[in-house]
Amino acid sequence: MLSFKLVLSFVIAATASPILHLSQLLPRQDIETPINGSLPNVTIFATGGTIASQGTSNTQTTGYSVGLGVQQLVDAVPEILSFANIRGYQVSNVDSGSVNQTISLKLARLINEELARDDISGVVITHGTDTLEETAFFLDLTINSTKPVVVVGAMRPATALSADGPLNLYQAVTLAASPNAVGRGAMISLNDRIGSAFYTTKNNANSLDTFFSTEAGQLGFFINQVPYFYYEPAVPIGKTHFDLSGADSLPLIDILYAHQDMDPELFNSTVEHGASGIVLAGVGAGGMSRVAAAAAEAVYNATAIPMVASHRSPDGFVPADEDAFIVASGFLNPQKARILLQLAIQAGYDNDDIKNLFARGYPSP
Ligand code: ASP
Repeated sequence: MLSFKLVLSFVIAATASPILHLSQLLPRQDIETPINGSLPNVTIFATGGTIASQGTSNTQTTGYSVGLGVQQLVDAVPEILSFANIRGYQVSNVDSGSVNQTISLKLARLINEELARDDISGVVITHGTDTLEETAFFLDLTINSTKPVVVVGAMRPATALSADGPLNLYQAVTLAASPNAVGRGAMISLNDRIGSAFYTTKNNANSLDTFFSTEAGQLGFFINQVPYFYYEPAVPIGKTHFDLSGADSLPLIDILYAHQDMDPELFNSTVEHGASGIVLAGVGAGGMSRVAAAAAEAVYNATAIPMVASHRSPDGFVPADEDAFIVASGFLNPQKARILLQLAIQAGYDNDDIKNLFARGYPSP
């Protein structure tokens, strides 16, 4: 039946390929003639991860490998086609630990171009869960549209008993097609929950119920696959948009993890290896040993390389110290602070601008 026919065009894009524009992509069926004009159009950008993985048995839930394409992801939930016209793009097919700036930049460009089309209601990005929050946060800061951007993954491979990918994808497409999801920034949707990309983080390496934003809370949830929201659309404090047009690479920012007996030499080595900025996953509220702090300050005084202190605890707030050489990350965890610092440096911010940028995310007294 025409109305149930899936329109998917595939774009095989090598992960190391240069940035592509939609206009440069392989020919695809045009959505100007939608299959069912009464249904919203949602585009799925597939990047890999467990949601696209297969094990050798239905009880295998570790050690599986990525390999399913976007067509197969949609084939597992044909019910989606009863409420949305779907197009799909294979942007990469990797574990999310291997998602890199080439893929992130490509995604941001493709999504910006796709959402600029009047006939597109929203987009879904399928992604490995391990670094899903990083891509979601990156898109939150770089997508220039109020339309829904939904990042989804799965904790069990597609071949597993009780695989979570199909229902997660169903919910993500529902969300991307929902007018109620407009104006909420990039969202992370897994396991019946909807979270803001700004604050949501992966809390458990193995459990299905792993994505939470503990202090800031969830945006919403699904009941019977219908998305419900707790609040009207709101913007996280300090959220800043970055225009990536023209950017074909991003500066290298390293995260250093503080712990007892932290090697103070790490700050120097990181800079010698080409880092343009450093984020500290600090003990407590952004701390490190006296010796490490002295080494960090010496490197800062010698190079003026921007440094941001975040927290290695899953949640919390790093308060600003006006006189410190190191900028406080506020609520941002190290992996999100890294992305914000990367975008700021790419945009040409100087150290004062960077300090002010992070300060915009601190709560008002
Ligand atoms: N290793 C997977 C990844 O790509 C894990 C997952 O998707 O849950 O992140």
